[in-house]
Amino acid sequence: MLDFNSRGQTALQVNAAIDAALVVRQAATPPRSYLGGSRLGHACERALQFEFLQAPKDEGAEFDGRILRIFGIGHALEDVAVAWLRGAGFALYTRKGDRPDGEQFGFAVAGGRIRGHVDGILAGGPEIPGLAFPTLWECKTMNAKAWRETANKGVAVAKPIYAAQIAVYQAYMDAAVPGVGDHPALFTAINKDTAELHHELVPFDAELAQRMSDRAVRGLRACDAGDLLPRAATSPDFHECRFCPWAKRCWSLPA
Ligand code: SF4
Repeated sequence: MLDFNSRGQTALQVNAAIDAALVVRQAATPPRSYLGGSRLGHACERALQFEFLQAPKDEGAEFDGRILRIFGIGHALEDVAVAWLRGAGFALYTRKGDRPDGEQFGFAVAGGRIRGHVDGILAGGPEIPGLAFPTLWECKTMNAKAWRETANKGVAVAKPIYAAQIAVYQAYMDAAVPGVGDHPALFTAINKDTAELHHELVPFDAELAQRMSDRAVRGLRACDAGDLLPRAATSPDFHECRFCPWAKRCWSLPA
């Protein structure tokens, strides 16, 4: 007799259908034609170049269904955090005109070749020492290990790429929302395993913002000139290289 309720088979088939649809949708999404402000703190400038130039990833290095599901859960949890903060009395704006179809707050500089989209702007809310408005709101979701490290050490030490993103956004958003560059940003980290929340005020780090901006300009100039920036590592065993989607390409090219 045919067993239509074989749980293993059902899971495999439904999972495969979901993942296949996610991969198709991802493949149909046009790649970024700009250097993302959220990426400027990446450990490797050469990887940023490959990303900006849309260099084909190594075989098998494209995002698979599981990774795309992780991204999807992260985006959905950010929407949940928006609702939590608004429920707590924060005036949190995530889109221009605060319409669901409104454009995300963001910036474009260097002729649109460097861009960023912010999670939100807090215009008011409960009185909390050190929190002043308007300010930038940045939200990330993490597994328990990364969350614990971030909560214990702070975002600048535990996740320098996020700290760089916040500094760059504070710098570039200040023209559109005066005060954002003066007031500490509110950083939210959600523990995906336990639903614990970490909140941290991140003062504007002008030196970091300048360093990241210089990095972006250096990367764009190198791309325009056809130059390859140095690797961040001396061996492909380096942590970043082991997870880099251009590792084969990179290590087949000159140092
Ligand atoms: S393989 Fe390593 S050095 Fe090369 S681009 Fe990737 S992260 Fe940078």
